[in-house]
Amino acid sequence: MKNTQAPLYGAIEGGGTKFICAVGSGPNNIRAEARFETTTPKETMDHVIDFFKQQEENLGELSAIGFACFGPLDPNPASSTYGYILPTPKSGWTNANVVGMLRNEFDIPIAFDTDVNGAALGEWRWGKAQGLQTFIYLTVGTGIGGGAYVEGNLLHGLIHPEMGHILLRHDMEKDPFEGVCPFHGDCFEGLASGVAIEKRWGMRGTLLTSDHMAWDLEADYIAQALVNYALTLSPQRIIIGGGVGNLSHLLPKVQKRTRDLINGYIQSPAILENIETYIVNPGLGNRSGMLGAIALAEQSLQRAS
Ligand SMILES: [Zn+2]
Repeated sequence: MKNTQAPLYGAIEGGGTKFICAVGSGPNNIRAEARFETTTPKETMDHVIDFFKQQEENLGELSAIGFACFGPLDPNPASSTYGYILPTPKSGWTNANVVGMLRNEFDIPIAFDTDVNGAALGEWRWGKAQGLQTFIYLTVGTGIGGGAYVEGNLLHGLIHPEMGHILLRHDMEKDPFEGVCPFHGDCFEGLASGVAIEKRWGMRGTLLTSDHMAWDLEADYIAQALVNYALTLSPQRIIIGGGVGNLSHLLPKVQKRTRDLINGYIQSPAILENIETYIVNPGLGNRSGMLGAIALAEQSLQRAS
């Protein structure tokens, strides 16, 4: 069945534990959705491909596919390893040519980017970053990562940003926890990810009460990171998502701590007076990633035509 209606996009939000796939054109038009456990690259991508093939029979041909994936990955179309997952602790996925697997089955534009760059684009298209030129999307969950949209484009640079692995001030007297990052120990992710919270306090963050001392510490680490991003990229807004980042009691602490640490140095009303609208949770809730993949597909089709 040939699709003569508005373009229909395939979306993949590839995560370390599950892949969420959808077909549609935006938040108000999701025609089909499915999730698959992340197992081996071949098995997982076969599920994805079967799902899209099935939906093409049901709904019509896809115009483009957007793939927002866990990293590290190679998003540079000019590179010989474009579309590959780069060396990762996730077993079996190092050097998996995930875009190649899609290309073998679909002769349409395929956009490939980090999960957080995808989520950033989703927020720009339909969420809290509409109309902005420069902003950051940070996720704080099992891991920590950030996407950056800078002067109207997603930022890739050398490979892509790894905002979760920046180094922070770590007071070993106040927090004698060595951190969980296999590469850096006490980097941002090593100190403040969901995994770090669970290991430090002996229970999952969602089970810690909102008045637990864990949250002042967590807010301090997140705020330190936001200060560094604000000073480096001068974002017009910072969006924080993820299982930890979305906790409603955490956001006000992060806003206040960030403003205190900046200490008046960035002379903008956005920070001095309106920190509540400067640091925000995603407008698309936990759907930024999947909708971001649709936005990636849409962008790739526009660029191809
Ligand atoms: Zn690290």
